[in-house]
Amino acid sequence: MIESDDSTQRAPISDTHAQSGQPANIDPIYRYDPEALSQLDLESVLLQGPYRDELNPTFRDEFVSRPPMSGLSVLRPVALSTPVPSRNAAPRFASRPPMGALNILREEIDKARTSLSIQVEVGSDTGLGPRTPSGPGSLWPTFEPPSLISGEHFWLEPPFPGGFNQLYSPGYQFGSTGGGRYRIHHGVDIGNPVGTPVLATSSGEVVHAGPDNPNLLGPYNDFYGNSVVIRLDRKLNTSRGEEDVFVLYGHLVSVEVQEGQWVGTGDYLGGVGMTGIAIGPHLHMEVRIGRNSYLHTVNPALWMRPASYTGTVAVRLLSATGRTWPGVQLSLYRYEETGVSWYRVIETYPEKESIGPDPSWGENGALSHIPVGTYLLTGTVNGEEVRQEITVSDGQTTFVELRTQQ
Ligand SMILES: [Zn+2]
Repeated sequence: MIESDDSTQRAPISDTHAQSGQPANIDPIYRYDPEALSQLDLESVLLQGPYRDELNPTFRDEFVSRPPMSGLSVLRPVALSTPVPSRNAAPRFASRPPMGALNILREEIDKARTSLSIQVEVGSDTGLGPRTPSGPGSLWPTFEPPSLISGEHFWLEPPFPGGFNQLYSPGYQFGSTGGGRYRIHHGVDIGNPVGTPVLATSSGEVVHAGPDNPNLLGPYNDFYGNSVVIRLDRKLNTSRGEEDVFVLYGHLVSVEVQEGQWVGTGDYLGGVGMTGIAIGPHLHMEVRIGRNSYLHTVNPALWMRPASYTGTVAVRLLSATGRTWPGVQLSLYRYEETGVSWYRVIETYPEKESIGPDPSWGENGALSHIPVGTYLLTGTVNGEEVRQEITVSDGQTTFVELRTQQ
């Protein structure tokens, strides 16, 4: 997992940790020790470790080699009842479902959902599966999101130089627990090798640089390890007025900026690492509104400029009376000329740890870097099915509100 050459050249990271007397109950495997980590059975660590915050499955190859599809489809393409017109000029993944084929698609979707629910059941048996909400939660925003132009705040540029993975792990989304395995996620994780340069995604002032001890950045000290927090030059207009926006970069192997320093977009902040509570080298990125606090985070998916030919989906899943449905898994099915494929799941936010909507969108779920095209968004909420066809456009956020009859 970590090249030995690499590890021997890295300076020990947490001098501060060592000198401050790390609490004895912190499992040493979570400290940065490449040698020890290379000998670990990570699966057993994930299931047995006392802290299970961070995991970073790398899915770089998936996206780099095949941007249109995830490779996760559970369906085989089937012949359609009507001939599909050839669209040589249009990219394959931008196609719309041919009319008349919808009934077949629906059947496929039902089959796929059955297949998925079996997987979910297996997960439930081991205590790792999602929990179906028995009732809606708190009242949620119901405002109409502003126009695309004024509503978008894709202020954050890619955090890595070209050629490196820029895509966050969809299996551990903001607000999710990775299927019940980890702590509720207050940001997103982007995997890259140790030492990969981390770049400022937007300009601003460095308000924190170094270990998150004694400064508290997470739920407890030494959680994000070596970190950088930048207060952006740009401010966000909300109903509370003009608010600061902070971006946190966590688990760094090295920090190359200092508190009080101003950085421009693309400036070098440090290297990817796994300091703090992290399994596998990755960058943890967080967006905080109003205060530089663990309890003021919003979904970075709505802030990071989507990769080329992809867009973002913001979902608001509410009850008939405007209450949020927490912890619901909504599936995205992708229409293609040859059939329909399950693409990804968007999980609605839990009502815990101040995980909440973005002031600009009022969503309770979001996912970005979705290839442009037409999708069906569907799921089951307390026994009731919801579904909506949506179009994902290049470089834009598609907002969709779903209401149950309950
Ligand atoms: Zn993370």
